[in-house]
Amino acid sequence: MIRIVFATNNANKVTEMQAAIGGSLEVISLKAAGIDIDIPEPHDTLEANASEKSRTIHRLTGENCFSEDTGLEIDALNGEPGVKSARYAGEDKAFDKNIDKVLSKMGDTPDRSARFRTVISLIWKGEEHLFEGICKGRILAARQGSGGFGYDPVFIPEGGDRSFAEMSIAEKNRFSHRRKAADKLVLFLQNQTTTV
Ligand code: IMP
Repeated sequence: MIRIVFATNNANKVTEMQAAIGGSLEVISLKAAGIDIDIPEPHDTLEANASEKSRTIHRLTGENCFSEDTGLEIDALNGEPGVKSARYAGEDKAFDKNIDKVLSKMGDTPDRSARFRTVISLIWKGEEHLFEGICKGRILAARQGSGGFGYDPVFIPEGGDRSFAEMSIAEKNRFSHRRKAADKLVLFLQNQTTTV
């Protein structure tokens, strides 16, 4: 089985990604790889942040690795919080405060359209490859559900009738941005390993 390091400290993302990828790859968390650093996300695009994370971890481990950066892009807020999603309401990256800020900035605006966008940066044999996954949906006026993480309680995906926070990981993965980007990653790696 291919072993690949996932450059994140977010345990939710590791669980979701392993579920999305299935048994074809062994996803190793940073913790399991023995790395304890807060990876910087200093850039103003998801792509640049994802690259910075995977390159940093590649430098430290020398292993094949990937990272992902995700943002929630809300039309009525001109694409915010976007690349600032984790720190929208402050450096403490508090999910609750971030949601409060989104809901208060949106008020009762009728345009609730939004999308999650994930960018994966893979460093495979020293070369970088980018994959994107998008999940369109809308922002609720108030939280629904207690599962998931981040903005899950206020996001309903297109084609769904419940928020991400009301879904199991398997259900969320039927719609999810992260799943779509992960599918592209897996396809790429399957092609690599069958042509070696
Ligand atoms: P990052 O990719 O860790 O920078 O994620 C940015 C922020 O986006 C996270 O802190 C979460 O608040 C939010 N986020 C990322 N993925 C999801 C998701 O699948 N559901 C809800 N919020 C998410």
